[in-house]
Amino acid sequence: MKLLAGCPNCGRTLHLSLSAADRRLACPACGRMFKVPNLEDLQKALSVADAAKGEIYVDENGNVYG
Ligand SMILES: [Zn+2]
Repeated sequence: MKLLAGCPNCGRTLHLSLSAADRRLACPACGRMFKVPNLEDLQKALSVADAAKGEIYVDENGNVYG
């Protein structure tokens, strides 16, 4: 499963592995640090992920989209 996270500063979509969850990352495009939601939050989205063919999209507030 891939994890897609949107940079809150520049909007770039970052392709991450699940190991990036619950960590702070620097956006490669603009350098801003942002928080990737933790797996507990992400587990709420597993049914969404099923519908999304193995990719889920999260924002820094823990909102999840398929
Ligand atoms: Zn950025």
